[in-house]
Amino acid sequence: MNLILLGPPGAGKGTQAARLVERHGMRQLSTGDMLRAAVAAQTPIGIEAKAIMDRGEFVSDGIVSALIDAELLAMGPEVGAIFDGYPRTAAQAEQLDEILAKHGRRLDRVIELEVDEDELVRRIVGRFACATCGTGYHDSFKRPVTAGVCDKCAGSEFVRRKDDNEQTVRTRMSEYRAKTAPIMPLYEARGIVARIDGMAPIEQVTDALEAIVAAIPGSA
Ligand code: AMP
Repeated sequence: MNLILLGPPGAGKGTQAARLVERHGMRQLSTGDMLRAAVAAQTPIGIEAKAIMDRGEFVSDGIVSALIDAELLAMGPEVGAIFDGYPRTAAQAEQLDEILAKHGRRLDRVIELEVDEDELVRRIVGRFACATCGTGYHDSFKRPVTAGVCDKCAGSEFVRRKDDNEQTVRTRMSEYRAKTAPIMPLYEARGIVARIDGMAPIEQVTDALEAIVAAIPGSA
């Protein structure tokens, strides 16, 4: 199974992808996560990408497609892929077609999480994560049960993404509207698009996603 999760930043793609990984043994391929790892490791790609990411603009198509290609190469052909935050431009969508063909894979569904932008800004600007295990939290919606202590691993250090501030979030949303939303018609023409109300409670979004996945032939 190969799925694309699309939606503006903060739509819940990462959360839902993690659930698909748990339930179906798929792999989450998040170009945002890969780029953040490259920035942290100060690789040449990371050094080039850092300032672009801090502004909320897009890293070049060639770089992100090469990251995806390398990940797929390292994965067994039997492991399903969830593309999270990729493709984000028409050029990346074309490159993904070529990469999938090269690896003998076929795109099953493109699932778009539909959301309200102002509400999203509220969601994103409050989010933080445990520095040790990565569990996600939010200032208003999901604080650790004991303040300052991670529910999952009892870690006491937390991190916030540098690009989770209002101005950068607005730029990331306008990038999504201008460059990413226009790739939907391409996938619509292939009859593989499904849409979910991303503003619904997390569990409800997961249920809707599971229903879409269950309807894919051979998904069981
Ligand atoms: P994300 O975690 O998906 O919100 O990505 C964080 C940042 O990484 C984005 O704001 C971009 O600067 C960069 N990025 C991630 N994925 C892509 C992509 N597919 N194309 C271009 N830039 C990307």
